Amino acid sequence: MSASDVTAMPAELLALAVAAPGFMPVDEGLALFDAVRDNLGGGVAVEIGSYCGKSTIFLGAAARLTGGTIVTVDHHRGSEEHQPGWEYHDPSLVDPGSGQLDTLSAFRRTIADARLEDHVVAVVGRSATVASLWRGPVNLLFIDGGHTDDAARADYEGWAPWIVAGGVLAVHDVFEDPRDGGQAPHRIFRRAVDSGEFEQYQQKGSLRLLRRISARLGEPVR
Ligand code: SAH
Ligand code: MG
Repeated sequence: MSASDVTAMPAELLALAVAAPGFMPVDEGLALFDAVRDNLGGGVAVEIGSYCGKSTIFLGAAARLTGGTIVTVDHHRGSEEHQPGWEYHDPSLVDPGSGQLDTLSAFRRTIADARLEDHVVAVVGRSATVASLWRGPVNLLFIDGGHTDDAARADYEGWAPWIVAGGVLAVHDVFEDPRDGGQAPHRIFRRAVDSGEFEQYQQKGSLRLLRRISARLGEPVR
């Protein structure tokens, strides 16, 4: 075993992450794991877009190593593309009682099976509403929520103000070419870079990792 293996993603958690339903390629999930492991310490990382907990396993596995906490926010009603008739609809995630999409019980099962419940706090609600109540420093923010411009902008404007200087902003589903996917995540990524407050330090697939250069905590971001 090499020295670097000591802080690698544990194999049993990687297997559970691979098996969990969701939208996180392994190489990008491992880049998230590394980012949390290297930046969280005993602090807080916030994920927007829990879905069924696939990416949360990568984040939570690292939080378990550092002694920090993952707060993951989702209304658990799905984004546009998860609704009936849309490309990423999964009928097994419809609550037969209400007829609505409900990913909360699948999420809970994922995190319980991974034994990460002590490291992951799930908040059920709209990102913008939860952000309006938030008051604390965030070491890493992972934006993987709604893909409309309104949703992505609200995630950025609501949560990025709380990233500490030296902390990390991770944005998923960033596509340079509109033929590869919607442009809302790309627009908030560009906005963060153009603000001069963040600089990209890594890219893996559609995942962009930026470091916050300077921060006045809680002040609006440009
Ligand atoms: N990270 C997940 C995928 C997230 S999919 C994985 O690894 O598989 C996007 C999620 O964002 C959906 O579960 C949807 O319910 C949630 N979402 C979309 N808009 C939201 C909003 N405004 N507030 C809270 N959650 C939202
Ligand atoms: Mg995504």
